[in-house]
Amino acid sequence: MSKAGSKCSFCGRERKEVSILIAGIDGHICNFCIDQAGAIIKEEIGQTKGVKPFASTSIKLLKPMAIKEHLDEYVIGQDDAKKTLCVAVYNHYKRLIENEKGNKKPEDAEIEKSNIIMVGETGTGKTLLAKTIAKILNVPFCITDATVLTEAGYVGEDVEGILSRLLQAADYDAAAAAKGIVFIDEIDKIARKSDNPSITRDVSGEGVQQALLKILEGTVVNVPPQGGRKHPEAKMVQVDTNNILFICGGAFDGIGKKIAQRLGSNTVGYSTEKREDFDKDNPLQYIAPPDLKSFGLIPELIGRLPVLTYLNPLDEKALRRILTEPKNALIKQYIRIFELDGIELSFDKEVLDLIIQKALEFKLGARGLRSICEAILTDAMFELPESKEKAIKITLPYALEKMKKASLSKLKAA
Ligand code: ADP
Repeated sequence: MSKAGSKCSFCGRERKEVSILIAGIDGHICNFCIDQAGAIIKEEIGQTKGVKPFASTSIKLLKPMAIKEHLDEYVIGQDDAKKTLCVAVYNHYKRLIENEKGNKKPEDAEIEKSNIIMVGETGTGKTLLAKTIAKILNVPFCITDATVLTEAGYVGEDVEGILSRLLQAADYDAAAAAKGIVFIDEIDKIARKSDNPSITRDVSGEGVQQALLKILEGTVVNVPPQGGRKHPEAKMVQVDTNNILFICGGAFDGIGKKIAQRLGSNTVGYSTEKREDFDKDNPLQYIAPPDLKSFGLIPELIGRLPVLTYLNPLDEKALRRILTEPKNALIKQYIRIFELDGIELSFDKEVLDLIIQKALEFKLGARGLRSICEAILTDAMFELPESKEKAIKITLPYALEKMKKASLSKLKAA
């Protein structure tokens, strides 16, 4: 930065006329000229190459703490999961960028890929975390559900199908897809049914786990670009999964008991760590790989998901914050929806209490909040755009009446 008295060598503005003046070897440039030059570059590159949303150079690798700061804007609480994720993601992309630069010497240690597994009740923010991280880093992202996966040859989606989705999210740029993030939801649903390896193959569970191993570890897969088996003639695209980060998530219902057993008993091995301070209400915080194994994930799969973290159940306080605080909090979204029609929406405090109370009852985490809000506001959203009303205040009697009308089963099914 330069001393007072210098001028911008491009536009001639004095130091006092600009907010930033950067000194070069032989001159200065001010913030106005930097902006203008940036716009020219953007336009030029856009015209000549076509702007690719995920050009290889466009990964925005921030330091772990900076990633967390961004996450905090969208995801409430879950500090342990955030920290673990930020570090894992940072290390993953650092490794990738380093490998790309070709700086690695033969004697340097090989950094292994660190795929992630997150355990936490439904609606606590697993998908939101993965999605937000991909957005912050500007890498292609897709979500897939482990329950639709099957071993090759069975009816359902082949494991390779996951990569078609990622390819699609990367605008069919295989190089960009190869640096993306895949979120595999409901990974707990492909657990084998019993802890004992079965002699006959368990198609729904273990076979799929086996099929996942290769792509999690890193391999080159021939991916049908669009729609898989429906277009067998389409040319295959090769996608390398070595640098794709896989984040798996699951609720692992009942795993709390297994954790309690491990920490409460003194059996051999891992479990000598009996804990006096065991918190029965939130056993997930102690999760460790042996618990995943006793739940029915095969050791090979657990080994390929070396970063293990957990999400806390959402209590009343967290739900209240989720409803109102994040950048795109539900309440802010509804206020904006009404605002677009020139209507001012407001809520009595008791209505927010009611929404939170019902969400806790439904046990759907933050997922319940939205369906309850919809039940309360749908009539207003239907009627008001055509009326002359300029404001609506949602009172407790109004909310209760609307909720009574909406069937409870419908709310729970959301
Ligand atoms: P999960 O994958 O754990 O089942 P999601 O991440 O899909 O849950 O969460 C469902 C919705 O609930 C999200 O779209 C988000 O609006 C909200 N939500 C859940 N947890 C949080 C959180 N910790 N902070 C902010 N919003 C959240």
